[in-house]
Amino acid sequence: MRNKIVAGNWKMNNDLNESINLISAIKKGLDEKNSKVEVIICPPFTSLETASALIKNTAIKLGAQNMYFEKNGAFTGEISASMLKSVGCQYVILGHSERRTIFGESDELINKKIKSAILSGLNPIFCIGETLQQREKGEAFKIVDQQIKKGLAGITKEEFEKIIIAYEPVWAIGTGKNATPEQAQEIHQYIRKKISTIYGEDSAEKTIIQYGGSVKPENSFQLMSQQDIDGALVGGACLKADSFLNIIQSAAI
Ligand code: PEP
Repeated sequence: MRNKIVAGNWKMNNDLNESINLISAIKKGLDEKNSKVEVIICPPFTSLETASALIKNTAIKLGAQNMYFEKNGAFTGEISASMLKSVGCQYVILGHSERRTIFGESDELINKKIKSAILSGLNPIFCIGETLQQREKGEAFKIVDQQIKKGLAGITKEEFEKIIIAYEPVWAIGTGKNATPEQAQEIHQYIRKKISTIYGEDSAEKTIIQYGGSVKPENSFQLMSQQDIDGALVGGACLKADSFLNIIQSAAI
């Protein structure tokens, strides 16, 4: 039985004061006795160190939204995996569709980032998912297949077990249009099967596959009650403590 993991991707939202307020509200409302659901918050870089101090001795874990694969050097504006570790991150979101589309990140670059994150002891939240055009052409399975193959190239079974997969259909991100529980389950089941062909059934059974794309309190329970949906990667709805807490609560049922 896999525990559920709910992660909040704050994106480019919340300055330091706003971050402190949001974390305080989440902490206040979180039922710490509910250890069945793991909670991760992913604030912007500028709030990570403060967030880390604020969540110390709580069940909340810290993640970053991006990183570069090199260890250090002349890469203006970039942040390395060890820098993220040094401020208390345990997770890092990689391959998010906004990184792929707005910043042109390729599967090959994402693969390098995943390897570098694991080498530094971070757990990647590896995002995959098809665009609307690809879905309408009947290519959803093919696309996630390619993203898995290229994103995980050269990653061993032991390394793979550090990874969380987030299936995020691009057409559902920030659009208010979520995949139906059945549509999401169909792809999640396919992803688990694919993982099983690469890393074996034991790894596939253990893999956390989150759903992301307009998850909100109104749809989170139905989505997360699907057999192969092991939690959620939440964007917009994680920016208000109440809705994020409601989603966490629905993962615990
Ligand atoms: C995301 O950015 O990962 C996401 C799923 O966003 P939203 O929940 O706003 O669709």
